[in-house]
Amino acid sequence: MPPLFPESTTAELAARAAAVMTPNYRPLPLILTGGSGARVHDRDGRTFLDMVAGIAVNCLGHGHPRLATAIAAQAAELVHISNLYLNEPAIALAETMIARTFGDRIFFANSGAEANEAALKLARRYQTTALGSPEKTGILAYHHSFHGRTLGALSVTGQPKYHKGFEPLVPGVVFATFGDLADTARVIDAATTPVGTIIVEPIQCEGGINVPDQGFFTGLRELCDARGIILIFDEVQTGIGRTGTLFCYEQFGMTPDILTTAKGIAGGVPLGAMICTEKVSVGFEPGSHATTFGGNALATRAGLEVLRVIQDDGLLDNAKAMGAYLASGLQALVAKYPDICATERGMGLVRGLELKDGVQTAAERATFITALAREEGMLINVVQGTTLRFVPPLVVTTAELDECFAILDSVFSATI
Ligand SMILES: *Cc1c(COP(=O)(O)O)cnc(C)c1O
Repeated sequence: MPPLFPESTTAELAARAAAVMTPNYRPLPLILTGGSGARVHDRDGRTFLDMVAGIAVNCLGHGHPRLATAIAAQAAELVHISNLYLNEPAIALAETMIARTFGDRIFFANSGAEANEAALKLARRYQTTALGSPEKTGILAYHHSFHGRTLGALSVTGQPKYHKGFEPLVPGVVFATFGDLADTARVIDAATTPVGTIIVEPIQCEGGINVPDQGFFTGLRELCDARGIILIFDEVQTGIGRTGTLFCYEQFGMTPDILTTAKGIAGGVPLGAMICTEKVSVGFEPGSHATTFGGNALATRAGLEVLRVIQDDGLLDNAKAMGAYLASGLQALVAKYPDICATERGMGLVRGLELKDGVQTAAERATFITALAREEGMLINVVQGTTLRFVPPLVVTTAELDECFAILDSVFSATI
């Protein structure tokens, strides 16, 4: 396609963007225009190895031919028709997702936050209407969690910095320590509003790539069963193959009642989904929840193609193998730079490398490292100020990861 701004410099366009967009983002003056696989390039001809992947969204990488063809073909036929009618891509994607998960039914939304809103509303309505427990409107979530920015999803996000200025939030939400069953039980017992729902991420990604001990989730399942609590797994970031299985819960030997996913689901086309058991699904009835765009033909066709490519190209196995390779390469760097790196952690292709304080603080180091890495041709970002996050596309190769390690080695050797 011809460029929209052939006469303007990147700096000019960054200034124009800053003049017209609301001030809630702090974008780098970097305008990306295309890419292929785990590589992306900007309008000034610089190429980057992309370890951000649209924040764990571009699971097939950039410019994937099958995804591009599917989107173009669907767009030429039918983009959207509303939920007053059915469309074939939504039926196909729904059947595929149900066949490959614990779930019996699915609701399509447009984002992670919206999938979580649907889950929280379904769980509450199931408790108060289907089960006849109108008092159980309380929700337990975890400190350092992240569930999205709508008021409901924000209310269960355990990071006070995101709440500032938006209170009052949804009432009846209590927070426990992630990975701690005893604390979960204690907080439920102490809650003034009886807890009917628990929402939890299998790995806290925005919260710093926190992985709980084996046994936490089987224990949490037992606790929910014993107390009649609906368990929601937020797999918005860990889903769609990122941890080496289609969903992360598969590795914990238990199933939630409701699962939400988004980010990677349609390779970058906005789509979210809430999957639930038949039992819990009766919390909704016609009219109780809806979205105009959710499950439209374009987005679900993209989602269907993503799942087909993951299957045809063995991307779950690749995520598993490349995840192990990424982990060992990052561990080698932790061993080589013990004064800079604290730990490496994660599952599959969602990994964090936590920095230490030195001459500079860990946060200053994180800023320095991401900026120098960019100069050396790699995009990475930081969670919680001090943990480098690695969420490359599921198609990433050993050669690309070797390049990532070499850039980190060079950048760490220049870090004070
Ligand atoms: C990104 C994210 C969300 C929010 O998704 P949006 O599409 O930005 O609304 C929710 N939960 C988790 C775990 C996420 O990583």
